Amino acid sequence: MILDKRLVLMITDKNGSRHINVSMIFRQLSLYFLLFIFGIVLFLVVSISVFNSEIKDINTKSVLIGEQYQKMLKRNSYLNEEINQRLEEIALAGDRVDDLEGVIGVSKDEYDAEKNESLLSRIDVASITGAQKAFIMKFIPNGRPLDSYRRISAPFGNRMHPILHILHKHTGLDFGTPVNTPVYSTADGVVDFSGDGWNGGYGKLVKITHSFGFRTYYAHLNKIVVKNGQFVKKGQLLAYSGTSGISTGPHLHYEVRFLNQPIDPMNFVKWDMKNFDSIFEKERTIRWQSLLTTINNLMEGQEKWDQQPLSLKEQN
Ligand SMILES: [Zn+2]
Repeated sequence: MILDKRLVLMITDKNGSRHINVSMIFRQLSLYFLLFIFGIVLFLVVSISVFNSEIKDINTKSVLIGEQYQKMLKRNSYLNEEINQRLEEIALAGDRVDDLEGVIGVSKDEYDAEKNESLLSRIDVASITGAQKAFIMKFIPNGRPLDSYRRISAPFGNRMHPILHILHKHTGLDFGTPVNTPVYSTADGVVDFSGDGWNGGYGKLVKITHSFGFRTYYAHLNKIVVKNGQFVKKGQLLAYSGTSGISTGPHLHYEVRFLNQPIDPMNFVKWDMKNFDSIFEKERTIRWQSLLTTINNLMEGQEKWDQQPLSLKEQN
């Protein structure tokens, strides 16, 4: 029995004896085992193909959702643009109301001009010293904000807006100039705004607050190199020109403001030591004599301070 590797069990009970061939059982068991393995493999193959098709489904869905998301992003930026345009229009409408007020208040303007005339006659230009002139040219905006430019592409004043096609007041002076022209501060001051956003159509914008109520704006820039709160000197590099915001082409939009009202920058751009008196004639909204007196007092105070002995200064 052991030689031919066959094991036969004999079971005897009250009904008699039976022979069970053990190798037959083994054969049957291995058959079942093979069937079991085959079943598992079949199950795995089917599951993998099902998973695969599901993954494909998910992929297509994700592509679709991605496309929808992109569409919504576009729509969102379009709507944002729309909102900004409306805001710009509202701001421009505000300017027009100001213009109308100007038209209605003709008599008031004439009265102011008259008063200015009498003030002008009292400006004693001859008595302004070289030191006072140098002081003024350091602290009040003058000269060009860039070394060179192609042309003045838009003057200050009322015009039809090139993009919005409505009548409005152009609050600055446009210098047509290639992108990345260096832009300089036109007087000593402090950066009170330096922004990379939309800024109501101004695009990338730098605002400088100068002494005695003056401010300058430099708009549609490409790259800004100064920070909020930074003190700057006349002639210091602020930024590089560009065409950001509402702009039809590369240019620098330059504004000069006095008590936050835009005034014609051209008078200030042309102003220098040689034609020092020109500004008093051309820009009449400023009480120059009052300003000159203030500057005079400041400089006299400085002289007195300089003449004081050191011991007195320490007490102060
Ligand atoms: Zn402009």
